[in-house]
Amino acid sequence: MTTTVPTTVNPNPAPTLPAMPAQPHPAGRRIVPALIDCAPIYVDCPSWCVMDHVAENEGALEDLYHSSDMADLYVASPSPNGPQLVLHVRLNEDPFLIRREGRGRNIVVDTGNDPFMLDARQAAEFADDLVALAAQVRAMSRTLAAEGQK
Ligand SMILES: [Zn+2]
Repeated sequence: MTTTVPTTVNPNPAPTLPAMPAQPHPAGRRIVPALIDCAPIYVDCPSWCVMDHVAENEGALEDLYHSSDMADLYVASPSPNGPQLVLHVRLNEDPFLIRREGRGRNIVVDTGNDPFMLDARQAAEFADDLVALAAQVRAMSRTLAAEGQK
């Protein structure tokens, strides 16, 4: 007597890529799988990148980019939507942009309009400006508090 075991086959299995054997690689970098228009490839990826390049499945190689987690700045708002996002900042790398001048690593400052792409020196100056702005906002807050307003 033969017993038939029912089997199910997922008609749309999630794409998977085999692990690539370890390769010599610069510190702070790794080789990760990616999909480009459903075609599997491997790309060099910085260790700070949080992108899932397989899930992103970009349509073209030039659309693939690396991104860190975002640092967000919110301002309190009386709106029912709660605090409002003022800007977010993240590390970025666009290694395959068609425009050569846009390639490379930078820090993106996005206020919801055209993002600003800063190099390390510009980002350090921006950070200094944020510290100075914070001191000004704190002084304004103390002025209001001294006048009896909350
Ligand atoms: Zn990446």
